[in-house]
Amino acid sequence: MMDAALHIERDADVRRAHASDASGLVLVPDGVARPTSHAEVAALLAECTSSRTAVTAAGGQTSTTAASITDRGVLLSLRAMDRVLDVDVERGVARAEPGVIVADLKRACAAEGLLLPLDPTSEEECTIGGAVACNASGARSLRYGATRPHVRALTVALADGSMVELRRPQLEKNTVGYALAHDPVDWFVGSEGTLGVVVQAELGLLPLPEQVIGLALPFASELAALRFIVAARESAVLHPRCIEYFDHLALDIVRSVEGARQWAADASTFVYVEEEPPRGMAPALDEWLSLAERYNGLVDDARVYEGESALREARRTRHAVPAHMNERGDARRAFGGRKVSTDWAVPHRRLAEAIARARTLAREAGIEQAVIYGHAGNGHPHQNFIAHDSEELGRIERVVEATLREVLAMGGTVAAEHGIGKLKRKWLPLQMTPLQLRGMEAVKRELDPAGILAPGNVL
Ligand SMILES: Cc1cc2nc3c(=O)[nH]c(=O)nc-3n(C[C@H](O)[C@H](O)[C@H](O)COP(=O)(O)OP(=O)(O)OC[C@H]3O[C@@H](n4cnc5c(N)ncnc54)[C@H](O)[C@@H]3O)c2cc1C
Repeated sequence: MMDAALHIERDADVRRAHASDASGLVLVPDGVARPTSHAEVAALLAECTSSRTAVTAAGGQTSTTAASITDRGVLLSLRAMDRVLDVDVERGVARAEPGVIVADLKRACAAEGLLLPLDPTSEEECTIGGAVACNASGARSLRYGATRPHVRALTVALADGSMVELRRPQLEKNTVGYALAHDPVDWFVGSEGTLGVVVQAELGLLPLPEQVIGLALPFASELAALRFIVAARESAVLHPRCIEYFDHLALDIVRSVEGARQWAADASTFVYVEEEPPRGMAPALDEWLSLAERYNGLVDDARVYEGESALREARRTRHAVPAHMNERGDARRAFGGRKVSTDWAVPHRRLAEAIARARTLAREAGIEQAVIYGHAGNGHPHQNFIAHDSEELGRIERVVEATLREVLAMGGTVAAEHGIGKLKRKWLPLQMTPLQLRGMEAVKRELDPAGILAPGNVL
């Protein structure tokens, strides 16, 4: 059944097909709109503002925080707006509609010898609109930064149906007005669908790297591995584009996925790095090995990954850790359990201290230790807990909150990568002051006075 004026589908199967993301929650929308043009998005938003109907934008629906699902009003799926508009080699930019899958745009750019530096692990499923709206990041963000610095321009449909084209200023100096008003592109990057709907993005590109090697470096102790990571990040002779940590439980998963039970038998953890030297320079392989040795790394068991397919394989192996934990979490749903994943971060020098405190808090609460892995070079690990039932879920959430309070006391953040969405909203006031929250609410009120956009996300 179709509502012609709004192009809203009310069919139960269509609504159910858009009711879940990677959060594990199910929220069935009242209707689904699947526009194919800017004009359709604008008309829908104007209509929804005048009828006070809620609208939640969605791309690949890979959100881990329930940001892309709703049981209030219309789910606006941008997946059908999936054209790569151009890859401009001269200007080093790509323009795309919001529904383009991130990895597809990366491949289109690579075919022209250019790198799109966006790097979420979910790149084969998530969209450009979703990556912009969540300011997505990943392993290689250590070198390239998150999505934000690569967004050059956006076309955004506002809640009232008007369309704005925003381009980052090229100014080196500017004293006009408040800094928060200088670059409206930044209002929308990371706004999780609450301020407007991105209908087109222009992204900056870099030259493809000349040479990259991957290195898996095993260590006998967690503390030695974490100290090595700080030294590697601060080294003047190494050129890491990612520094990823895998604790003993993550190492077990990697070994079982690879069928390589015997790899690095004396290791309890490993660190995966990618070395991307400046153009014309050879990778600093010997320097990596000698630094690892200085921290008692088991360098005889080190693995080297050379060439695009070997690096892809290493990435696939890393992805096996969250995938395995997702499966374990899904198996507990019938009992009210699930996977609980954190994405807190601390200044990188405090990571060892933060992990030690997180482990102590879990031990004191009598819950199974989380698998800890991820973007240690940025001080940003993931803790993946498995709640076996609803009672344990409550205990884990209390441990996570206690951990977040300690993380904040170390100068950290409650959410470095996956945004706030609906699930982490309760933790926003732990980090943001009332003044900051009022500032955000004022922007929201100005851009979306009727409060129709992505209700329940962030604020
Ligand atoms: C296995 C797995 C691995 C992941 N790894 C990473 C990772 O490494 N790094 C990372 O950052 N995240 C990661 N994520 C989380 C998620 O993939 C990212 O946040 C991603 O950017 C979301 O993109 P999406 O297209 O799926 O957006 P959705 O999930 O559909 O939406 C996410 C948010 O963006 C908003 N939105 C979507 N499209 C638009 C639009 N056009 N305009 C305005 N708002 C919009 C939605 O309203 C919602 O608030 C992972 C998720 C999974 C399941």
